[in-house]
Amino acid sequence: MSYVTGLRCVHCARTYHAEDVEYFCPVCGYVDGILDVVYDYEAVKSELHPSALAENGDFSIWRYLPLLPMNDRTLIPHLQLGWTPLYDVPRLAGELGVARCWVKDEGRNPTGSFKDRASAVGVVKALEKKASRITCASTGNAASSLAGFSAAAGIAATIFVPARAPQAKAAQLLVYGAQVFSVQGTYDQAWELCMQASAEFGWYNRNCAINPYLIEGKKTVSLELAEQFMRITPGNFPDWIVVSVGDGCTIGGVWKGLREMQILGFILRLPRILGVQADGCKPFLTAWRGKSGLVPCDANTLADSIAVGHPRNFSKGMSAVTESGGAFVSVTDEEILQSIPMLAQKAGVFGEPAGVAGVAGVRRAVELGVINRSESVAIVMTGNGLKDIESAIRAAGSMIQVRPNMKEVRRALGAAVPA
Ligand SMILES: [Zn+2]
Repeated sequence: MSYVTGLRCVHCARTYHAEDVEYFCPVCGYVDGILDVVYDYEAVKSELHPSALAENGDFSIWRYLPLLPMNDRTLIPHLQLGWTPLYDVPRLAGELGVARCWVKDEGRNPTGSFKDRASAVGVVKALEKKASRITCASTGNAASSLAGFSAAAGIAATIFVPARAPQAKAAQLLVYGAQVFSVQGTYDQAWELCMQASAEFGWYNRNCAINPYLIEGKKTVSLELAEQFMRITPGNFPDWIVVSVGDGCTIGGVWKGLREMQILGFILRLPRILGVQADGCKPFLTAWRGKSGLVPCDANTLADSIAVGHPRNFSKGMSAVTESGGAFVSVTDEEILQSIPMLAQKAGVFGEPAGVAGVAGVRRAVELGVINRSESVAIVMTGNGLKDIESAIRAAGSMIQVRPNMKEVRRALGAAVPA
């Protein structure tokens, strides 16, 4: 049995029994009425405390089961998920101009991205509800991860992706056997189409902004960060957690997980959250600077995973930054591209454009004086670089062409060439 006590609307604060509503607050509707899963934290505390975790040999997101909305343990998919490595990377810290820098490599998840955390929970909820099919719209990673976890669980999946999704992600979808609609339009249009199809055909909806359980999977990255930092630097937590922002669900999940770990006593002082957007698509930054509501915009960036002009979880995304006393910054596509080899060469981690946007964001925040040079940062690197080879190759430079003889190798190296 889970410790969920109900679902609370972030807009009107009405609370519902989990059995009474499926996706969103019926009074506020799906645009505003995003629901938040509420737990009995006192009861959670009795099971989830440092000494219990120290003895827990399950190094996956399921070690935090008391903080997850699962009713039936037997439905958990078999793929190894979470407990991704946290690297201390001093050379990257030096490059970015901060005192200390860690990278949490989410590219190590089963389908190569952070989104696996949410898809796993979505698939379990679909199985609990005995749904015949699960669906989502995605810029790419949520789709490929849903395809992978659906395949693992043996449930059918229908996925809507914008035509611009990188080829590697499209390949993942098809290989895992999902039914895929390549929508000749934007992510926002794919999202609307998915919503309509889900309603018409009764498919279980994995869209993170309207399905309250998905963010529960996403928050596990912060549960891990809290525990990992407790192990490596007891009593200390980085000053900033850095994450790139598209729909707002990931950053919202990151913040929820941190607050929960404070309630449970794993973190004494909450960090600030830095949300990083692309210059060509920065609705959160615009609203945060202008202290205004959401104004949807076009999505012009090569970082496909954060190319979201109409964020569906504006409320939770904005709260993460405002409540933590954090900030939003934006970076150019050029800076994102430069960050791919920088992260790879200074930290040994290969990330996709949206994954490395956080690296570029730290540099920008230091330049702006938002992050102080004496502060420490942990960057959540959200997706594996192999997911978008085209961008990587644009950023990486070119090979040295030689014919197969040593003379040419010597000449290329500037070495003496014997006569
Ligand atoms: Zn409501």
